[in-house]
Amino acid sequence: MARCDTCGNDYDYSFVIVRGSEHFTFDSFECAIHKLAPVCGHCGVRILGHGVEVRAPGGLHGSIYCCAHCARSAGEGRVVDHVQA
Ligand SMILES: [Zn+2]
Ligand SMILES: [Zn+2]
Repeated sequence: MARCDTCGNDYDYSFVIVRGSEHFTFDSFECAIHKLAPVCGHCGVRILGHGVEVRAPGGLHGSIYCCAHCARSAGEGRVVDHVQA
């Protein structure tokens, strides 16, 4: 048994997520998403898939968006969802 890092619930089937050197304990995926899922830099939606990350040349941390439309709206003009035929 372990206590959820998001809501504090002490639950038999809690699980641990490791990100880099950090360990997080959760009682549900909902609580894991609430704490760990990144937020789109334009519309604020939680990103549960891969998202679109834009890094400056040589930059370590980029901006993350839910889709190319949001990336473009935030000024990342080169990002597209579709290959241009
Ligand atoms: Zn929880
Ligand atoms: Zn978005």
